[in-house]
Amino acid sequence: MTKEVPLPRQKRIALVAHDARKADLLEWVRYNQGTLSRHFLFGTGTTGAMISKETGLPVKLFMSGPLGGDQQIGARIAEGEIDFLIFFWDPLEPQPHDPDVKALLRLAVLYNIPTASNRATADFLISSPFMDRTYQRIVPDYLSRLRQIADDDD
Ligand code: PGA
Repeated sequence: MTKEVPLPRQKRIALVAHDARKADLLEWVRYNQGTLSRHFLFGTGTTGAMISKETGLPVKLFMSGPLGGDQQIGARIAEGEIDFLIFFWDPLEPQPHDPDVKALLRLAVLYNIPTASNRATADFLISSPFMDRTYQRIVPDYLSRLRQIADDDD
């Protein structure tokens, strides 16, 4: 069972970068600062603080990734409070919190969240006409499924 959930015109964008990718993400944010300023920004602790300090953009900070920040963002995605993910993860080094990284990426797929893990994809996403419009996102409808199971039991 699925349902449509609007991805609003003003998107709630989570920004995350592993250490070796932070400079890359910062450059991308600087280049797209005008567009990003029209949306709501969130970030893991170190990434978000860096972006906010270097660009002046307001960024709501979660904990640092290795301390639970990725899981916080994953939970927000599951609860429908974050609907866009720019996550520049490091393809060359293992991370202490690799299970959290995998969990976050899994939830982004499950909840049909636009997700970019490199500059080219991030460029394509941010130049999409959907950035300035509402988009109907198709997501799994577990509540209806649970209700159906409960009804079947009666
Ligand atoms: P950080 O976390 O922004 O606190 O460095 C990012 C991550 O490692 O997931």
